[in-house]
Amino acid sequence: MKRTPASARLDREELAAMLALRDPAGREELRRRAESVLLEECGPRVAFRGLVEFSNICRCNCRYCGIRRGNRAVRRFRLDPGEILECARFCAEAGYGSIVLQSGERNDAEFLGFVERAVRAIKRETVSGALPSGLGVTLCVGEQAPDAYRRLFDAGAHRYLLRIETTAPALFARLHPKEQTLASRMKCLESLKAIGFQTGTGVMIGLPGQTHGQLADDLLFFRDMDVDMLGMGPYIANEQTPMRRHAAGTRARHAEILELSLNMIAAARLLLRDVNIASTTALQAMDPVGRELGLQFGANVIMPQVTPVRVRREYQLYEGKPCMDEDPQRCMECLRRRINAIGREVCPDDWGDAPHARRRRAGMPEKQR
Ligand code: SF4
Repeated sequence: MKRTPASARLDREELAAMLALRDPAGREELRRRAESVLLEECGPRVAFRGLVEFSNICRCNCRYCGIRRGNRAVRRFRLDPGEILECARFCAEAGYGSIVLQSGERNDAEFLGFVERAVRAIKRETVSGALPSGLGVTLCVGEQAPDAYRRLFDAGAHRYLLRIETTAPALFARLHPKEQTLASRMKCLESLKAIGFQTGTGVMIGLPGQTHGQLADDLLFFRDMDVDMLGMGPYIANEQTPMRRHAAGTRARHAEILELSLNMIAAARLLLRDVNIASTTALQAMDPVGRELGLQFGANVIMPQVTPVRVRREYQLYEGKPCMDEDPQRCMECLRRRINAIGREVCPDDWGDAPHARRRRAGMPEKQR
């Protein structure tokens, strides 16, 4: 599906120039344009998805990640099915409308069966007058075979987030061991789309050696992949990873990386227009009002923590992750207050599908999308 002519006109150079903006007036103009497209295409409301990080057991060794297989300092956990269901019931009763089940990557039969049963149980147990088809379920459980994706879709999950992290081949290769490839991740995204998932992806912003041109290429990739949702965040170094030597550099560039991340959200909104864009927790790790800033630069989704407090510290992909001790009820109240404070409101009891996905489903002609 092609985007609207206005957004299609943005080329690599224009996008890279937006990302490079540092002066306050230029950035405010970018923010204002992104906010205006957001309001026109998606409206002012913010969708909540309760985030359940249900296991930190991972077969992969991504060099930037705090729960990579090689980090022996992490205590591994997996929530039991009853705990996951309890989280789902909280989401449904709190009016979140949707839940995200996220974990480290495993592709063994036991894991796949576990996730499939969890999705079925959530769909069955959260049906109500307000949610006649139960909670909307987004999965974020990594690279899987096409038939595994099909099983999870048939179980009732309808959205899937698989971050590409970067589309620059050499940078991807520096971030991952050689058995993890960019080609494989792209193939997975194609599979997810072919099966019918509303598909999301995203990148890390501010990686060592990453250029504005590469990030502009990432944006064009999102457009060409015709994604429905984006989850992008600033790169925050983790001392327990092989990339620890970059920590000092990224700390020194802190303000620059935060600004770049916000510019990236705005540029994505201008280019893609009607997709869902998350204001990620990592923004709040960089600035106490980082998630509000993300919303003001064009994001429209927030993922409040629902993971039980007892295991949250074991799921730290990056350092300084906020909301470690607040129970889900407090997270919900805090986020509602923050959203209301910037003149936006939460959209209750709604799956919060992207207008982009709804328009495609309705088969509307391109010029009406
Ligand atoms: S980024 Fe994901 S796949 Fe990579 S090590 Fe971390 S949890 Fe595993």
